[in-house]
Amino acid sequence: MIVKIDSIGRITVPKKYREEFNLKPDSEANMLPLPDGIGVSLFRLTPRCANCGKEEGIKKFDNILLCENCRKVLRYAIT
Ligand SMILES: [Zn+2]
Repeated sequence: MIVKIDSIGRITVPKKYREEFNLKPDSEANMLPLPDGIGVSLFRLTPRCANCGKEEGIKKFDNILLCENCRKVLRYAIT
């Protein structure tokens, strides 16, 4: 998909990709250069469960990000 860079360097992420990758206003993303100087890639920065990868209900559990379900399983396992 071709996008334009505006006069102050901004790029609009097309709606298709915002929806597909759950990019919402004020989402954070990491822009990394691709090898050989051919361009950049954009990666969404969304906290995910360290165990299952889920994005909903994430909280720290003993300094590890876990979803509600994994926190319950872990609490059950350690008691
Ligand atoms: Zn989980």
